[in-house]
Amino acid sequence: MSSRRSLRHLPIFILLLVLMGLSSFAAHRIAQQLGIADLQATGLHRLDLYTASLEREIGKYAFLPGTLGLERDVLDLLRKPVDNKLAPQVNAYLEQLNDRAGTLSIYVIDASGHVVASSNWRRADSFIGEDLSFRPYFREAIDSGNGRFFGIGTTRGEPGYYLASTLADESRTLGVAVIKVSLEQLEKSWSTVEAPVMVTDENGVVILGSVADWKFTTLRPLDENTRSAFDQTQQYNRRALKPLGLKEIQELDHGARLVRIAKEGPEMVTVYPVAGRFLAQSRPLPGTPWTLTVLSHLEQVDDIAQSRAALAGVGAAFLFMLGLMLDERRRHLKDRLAAREALQQAHDELERKVDERTADLSAANHLLQDEIAERIRAERTLRAAQDELVQAGKLAVIGQLSTGIAHELNQPLAALRTLSGNGVRFLDRGDLTTTRANLERIAQLVDRMGLITGQLRAFARKSSGQLQAVALCSALDNALALLEQRLSERGINIVRHCPLPEPFSLCDANRLEQVLVNLIGNALDAMDGQSAPCLEISCETIGQQARLTVRDHGPGLAEEALAHLFEPFFTTKEAGVGLGLGLTISAGIVRDFGGTLSGANHPAGGAIFTLEIPLTAEPRKP
Ligand code: ADP
Repeated sequence: MSSRRSLRHLPIFILLLVLMGLSSFAAHRIAQQLGIADLQATGLHRLDLYTASLEREIGKYAFLPGTLGLERDVLDLLRKPVDNKLAPQVNAYLEQLNDRAGTLSIYVIDASGHVVASSNWRRADSFIGEDLSFRPYFREAIDSGNGRFFGIGTTRGEPGYYLASTLADESRTLGVAVIKVSLEQLEKSWSTVEAPVMVTDENGVVILGSVADWKFTTLRPLDENTRSAFDQTQQYNRRALKPLGLKEIQELDHGARLVRIAKEGPEMVTVYPVAGRFLAQSRPLPGTPWTLTVLSHLEQVDDIAQSRAALAGVGAAFLFMLGLMLDERRRHLKDRLAAREALQQAHDELERKVDERTADLSAANHLLQDEIAERIRAERTLRAAQDELVQAGKLAVIGQLSTGIAHELNQPLAALRTLSGNGVRFLDRGDLTTTRANLERIAQLVDRMGLITGQLRAFARKSSGQLQAVALCSALDNALALLEQRLSERGINIVRHCPLPEPFSLCDANRLEQVLVNLIGNALDAMDGQSAPCLEISCETIGQQARLTVRDHGPGLAEEALAHLFEPFFTTKEAGVGLGLGLTISAGIVRDFGGTLSGANHPAGGAIFTLEIPLTAEPRKP
């Protein structure tokens, strides 16, 4: 896991390293170039300074050799160099002049090259008598009037700068006056400066330098010719002239170059470093074949460049890391934004769905309300139809009953006719007892007829819809009374069972009787043709319920009848006999009373219909 992670980061790490490397390199280059440019400016300034001081130092004495030509004694001595009495005088003069001028030595050479007078005449190693015709400054002066030369003295091995001028009278060259100047003082003043400085001659030999050990070393290898010329002129008095070990690294603008000086030999005690990399700036010294070189050490520039490079590397790493962090942060923000957007989208989607569902729901609600309204309308229509049917059912029963009723009424009517006719006759005969008996019988018959028509009217009357406490056993009796004729015609054995006290239920007496008439009528139909038909009717109370049962001993309910018993217009009876509405209407009526009606087959045969209805308290008698 971690190795995969580090592998994933490898390109970033490499990129970081490359970036650090590049920026370090660039910073190093720039810092170095700027540092070198800075050093160059300072170096040029130093060059100006040192050149001026050297020129001044040399220029100070430039006129001095020529002035000796103004001395008669000097000229006279040159005219007759051997055994001249003037020699001591001239020597003394030169000694004095040398002291005053602060030069190393002043001497006069005759035309053959021999020293005829010298400031150091007192010393044992005085120049007097020495042949210096081989010295270049002598030749130069003879040839051109003036000679300049830096060299080491042949007698005392003292380095110095020789300035020579010819001395001549009107007709010929008499000799050469030479002044040897020490540049030690100048060198000493250079040794305290911040950067090493040196003067090289035309052969690349260091003749002056702020570093003592550099003196009389060579910047470039000397060829054999030059070396043999040195031997001849004894310019460096047979010094070894070892190479300084300066190597050029790079050429820069304005004659500047980068050089390296190898560290050799024992450590030198100097105020500045004398080995390592330097910026070398050179300038030829006017009037001499010399070159003045200022060396500025690159140590500081290198240090600064290195620290800048390190700083740039760290800075680049920091910027890179910052970039990475910002990128990471940007990505993180983008992810968060995307997540928020997704969330918003999900939210919008959810809201849209909720709106849709709400719209659906409200549509469904509207539909439901419409449906409910429709149902209510249907219910009302049904109820109206049911009421109509109840009424129609009643009329059907009335129709059914009408024959019986007609028969029932015809009988008493015929009896009335007979009794009233007999009554008149018995009255005529004066038989009042029989007449009374006839009249009483007539009254009984009329009562009975009134009862029949009253019941019929009550049955046919439309229900008021007002519920009241109804005596259940009385209702049963009324129903039986309505069917009295059929029952007696068929010789039905009625087994009636009613408890005491009589139970009451909250209902409509007429409509309850209609139900019972219907149930008993069906039972009679079922037992049609039986020899000993028996009808069992009972009323009982179970808890808060009253239960009325009508059981016949007929064939019982057929399977199809059981399935469709309470469906309207279901009948197994012949057309015109049954409408198939009786049980439907009855069940509806019972339901209105808060009760139930059910039909089943009795285990011992026949059908049994059970009507259950809530009990109510017996009403108080007025
Ligand atoms: P209808 O008497 O006009 O046919 P009902 O709704 O009163 O209409 O009765 C429906 C049917 O139920 C009858 O046709 C009959 O088949 C059956 N039925 C009702 N009562 C009885 C019963 N006591 N015994 C056998 N079948 C019955």
